[in-house]
Amino acid sequence: MSENFVFVFGKYKCLRCSAISKRSKSRCNGYAANGKAVCRMHGAYSTGPTTKEGLEKLASLRKIHGKETRSIRKKRSDLKAKLLSAIAIGETLGMFNK
Ligand SMILES: [Zn+2]
Repeated sequence: MSENFVFVFGKYKCLRCSAISKRSKSRCNGYAANGKAVCRMHGAYSTGPTTKEGLEKLASLRKIHGKETRSIRKKRSDLKAKLLSAIAIGETLGMFNK
């Protein structure tokens, strides 16, 4: 039997779920839903957010790498803009040697 297939009821050869456990790092042994890559327990039938409010909430909650948020990136961007403007003022006043 290939790694990518499982037998359902010992009879039907189906595509294996591609989800990987966060805890054990092993692959799910369930069978993928029809036309999907994951099983019913791993979101095969999920439609995601369908309303405008749901999409906005998801966008506001979405993080990158689990550490940065939009607010942290905006704060860093604002600080960088302040620093660049201070450097520009310093250069016009001749504070920096070239
Ligand atoms: Zn699964």
